[in-house]
Amino acid sequence: MAGEPQADCLFCKIVAGEVPATIVRETETTVAFRDINPQAPTHVLVIPKSHHPDAASLADADPQVIADIMREARKVAVQDKVEDRGYRVVFNTGSGAGQTVFHAHLHVLGGRGLQWPPG
Ligand code: 5GP
Ligand code: ZN
Repeated sequence: MAGEPQADCLFCKIVAGEVPATIVRETETTVAFRDINPQAPTHVLVIPKSHHPDAASLADADPQVIADIMREARKVAVQDKVEDRGYRVVFNTGSGAGQTVFHAHLHVLGGRGLQWPPG
């Protein structure tokens, strides 16, 4: 069923506490944790606790949780004191866009200058 935990999903295992992660925030619907391979001084992933393969399918199934994730992204930026300088939020969607983990996740990047376009 849509949203149910998947046994073979790394981020479902982080939600369940079966794989360790540096969790920086948690709500009823979301978890935010530091990326294992950070691309900026702040690089946090905000994920839904429910399993959806990407942001598009999450938006279809449960748009309120997309709003929850966006609200949490700002709170991460404030908590890490990178909000003033500006920060970037990215949902890589599909392998051609660089998605490698197929449990929806929002990258929150900040703490350094960020170029646009990202390449
Ligand atoms: P994607 O490429 O799918 O947009 O992003 C997946 C992100 O998950 C990557 O930035 C990668 O470094 C991160 N990642 C992969 N495995 C782990 C892990 O076990 N723990 C944490 N904290 N991050 C991970
Ligand atoms: Zn999952």
